[in-house]
Amino acid sequence: MGGLLSKLKKKSSPKIAEAGGETAPLAPILTSDLERRARLLDGLERSDLGWFWASDDAGRLIYLSEPAAERISENGEEIVGRQLADIFKDDDELGESSTQRPLKFQLAARNSLRPTTVKIDVGGRTLWWEISGAPRISETEDFSGYHGIARDVTASIASQRDAEKLSRFDSLTGLANRHRITHKLAATLTAFQSAKRSCATMLLDLDRFKQVNDTMGHPAGDELLKQVAARLTRIVGDQGEIGRLGGDEFQVILPDIEDRQHLGDLSERIIQMLSQPYSINGMRAVIGCSVGVAVAPFDGIESEELVKAADLALYAAKGGGRGQYRFYSSDLRDKASHRHQIEEDLRDALLKDELEMHYQPIVSSKDHKVVSVEALMRWNHSERGMVSPADFIPVAEEVGIIRELGEWAINDVCNRVASWPTDVRAAINVSAVQFASDDLIPIVKRALKKSGVNPARIEFEITESVFVGDIERALRMFKDLKEMGVRLALDDFGTGYSSLSYLRDAPFDKIKIDQSFVRGCTEPGNNNAAIVSAVVSLARALNMETVAEGVETKDELEAVVAQGAVSLQGLLFSRAQPAEYITELLESGELILEPLGPEKYRSDRRTEFRKIGLVHGDSRYDVVLRNLSKTGAKIEGLLEVPLGTEFVLDLGGGQLAVATVRRSEGFSQGVEFETPLISDGSDGLCTRHRVSPYQIEAAGRPLRSLSDEGVAAITGGSAGGHRQFQQVDVAAQKR
Ligand code: C2E
Ligand code: MG
Ligand code: MG
Repeated sequence: MGGLLSKLKKKSSPKIAEAGGETAPLAPILTSDLERRARLLDGLERSDLGWFWASDDAGRLIYLSEPAAERISENGEEIVGRQLADIFKDDDELGESSTQRPLKFQLAARNSLRPTTVKIDVGGRTLWWEISGAPRISETEDFSGYHGIARDVTASIASQRDAEKLSRFDSLTGLANRHRITHKLAATLTAFQSAKRSCATMLLDLDRFKQVNDTMGHPAGDELLKQVAARLTRIVGDQGEIGRLGGDEFQVILPDIEDRQHLGDLSERIIQMLSQPYSINGMRAVIGCSVGVAVAPFDGIESEELVKAADLALYAAKGGGRGQYRFYSSDLRDKASHRHQIEEDLRDALLKDELEMHYQPIVSSKDHKVVSVEALMRWNHSERGMVSPADFIPVAEEVGIIRELGEWAINDVCNRVASWPTDVRAAINVSAVQFASDDLIPIVKRALKKSGVNPARIEFEITESVFVGDIERALRMFKDLKEMGVRLALDDFGTGYSSLSYLRDAPFDKIKIDQSFVRGCTEPGNNNAAIVSAVVSLARALNMETVAEGVETKDELEAVVAQGAVSLQGLLFSRAQPAEYITELLESGELILEPLGPEKYRSDRRTEFRKIGLVHGDSRYDVVLRNLSKTGAKIEGLLEVPLGTEFVLDLGGGQLAVATVRRSEGFSQGVEFETPLISDGSDGLCTRHRVSPYQIEAAGRPLRSLSDEGVAAITGGSAGGHRQFQQVDVAAQKR
């Protein structure tokens, strides 16, 4: 070791000698040499490597190296004499991780100052210094002030702040990033728990953002995300904080909001605003948005549980046709696993021959004669029985087997129609995903050729969502299809991203008015009738036919015919029937269908058949919910309940509704709610408020998200006790 060192020294020493020439005699600075010491310190001060400062026993600055004083004195104003604590401010942006004690306390306690970052405001500019200091204590233990050193750390703090900002904010949109929003939610929930406050969170996913990104390019996608962020910020305002989780996913934290009316309204506004067209470099783009909502402590106590709940709600919202919001409820968990099962089994459905086509007649409004049929896919699952296409088509789109299903449908329908004796047309639904694939045209061509069917008898039903993304391509596809001689219908008109300007250019033969506009069009104060009438005139002007979908009652029939709908489809005439049934119908030649069904549409009353709890006094009963509307319900299961009786219905999931009996007959009662229910985002109803897990906790139970047992425990109602009413088994009565 020593050898190596001496070798190195030997090697380098001649060079030093060469460079320095004659070596000067050593002249050390002695402690007693005050002049040279002062010059040394002076040089050091001027070099900006470090500065000196001193204060008196009253905390006033009595010395600061001149270059340093120059930097922080505004317009040459005197620094010396000012309070240290006035010049050096605590840096409150150091964040939660800082353990630094306030400077004022440290000075007052005459502590030794370990390197401390302080902020100095100089004429609107901020400088950061790191100061250290030691109290000056005399031999007689008297404190006479501080002396210390300081250096400027502004540059490194600024770049550190930038890096921190980057790590907390999304550089594209300026919103909080996933890291920050996750941290924020966790911190908020922890703090709120002890204060028994609630906090909602929303997860948002843009519908068809990918299409814009793919067809218009990534810079356009980025621009779109920026505009989405700006719109979101405007809507949410100071109600909460918004973050971008990545891609086209956003999250909103809404402290102290628990009212589902408020949350539903806000979600709806977000969906509406984000679905308005965007202008990107002079081009138009349209996207949609789905929202999942969960509220702490009801749906989750910890942030992970809450976000999982919101995620399930979002998933349900997307599955429900997109452009919707959904509140979390515990049955979504079961649905998610159900969906997973569908996904597994769907792959085999084609191989196992479990799919079949049913056909629903569409009649002319003039004479109720069948003019065409709509092919609707049915899946006869070996264990589950019939699975609704509303459940499995979205899954097929997601897992990418919609193209196989679609091809099978096109072939099956073409073959079937070719075998029918009349010239009745058949409509085939084409999913937007299928429409986006380049296979569609060749598949249709082959099916037409192989079956030999007259193309004019085949119609393709396409939804408005094909107008999202690349419009030019959509128009080309329409043209190609029309050139083959088939007809085109626009399905579910009015529910999606309709744009009248695209409709003008698209060669549709028919517009199908969605059943949501037919439903309730006879109700006073409902403007669905006006919408139906407007769509009919629009279609006439564009030379297109109209079909009213989902006609269920005679008053709806009368209304849509009065508004001018050309054809009608709905349960009032016929549901979808197996192909053999339709073949027989067509062969019989009796094509006039009689409208058979209820006279009137009954407001928004939903038929139900489920067990719920009923609490009266300190007794709890089991009753059956028969129907439910916003304002009331019909229940069965208690005998001879007097009018005006008040009780609480436990609708499950912490939803309690105070109700008064308005009609009573035998074991059946009509009740009116004290507070109306609200929409749950899909076609269900829910209460605005729920029993809080904090209330359940206050009754001596552990704090956890809502469960029916927890709720039953605090709504009292022992099954025993004194019961005022006799409970009957409704199912047994029915038999
Ligand atoms: P859609 O194309 O709008 O079909 C009309 C839906 O309304 C059908 O539901 C039909 O049974 C139902 N419906 C008809 N009349 C009434 C009525 O009076 N009242 C009520 N409440 N409903 C009525 P379905 O068969 O469950 O199909 C649901 C959706 O699944 C269809 O909506 C369509 O979008 C999709 N779908 C069905 N078959 C296929 C298919 O072969 N391919 C594709 N891509 N999608 C399909
Ligand atoms: Mg359809
Ligand atoms: Mg439809």
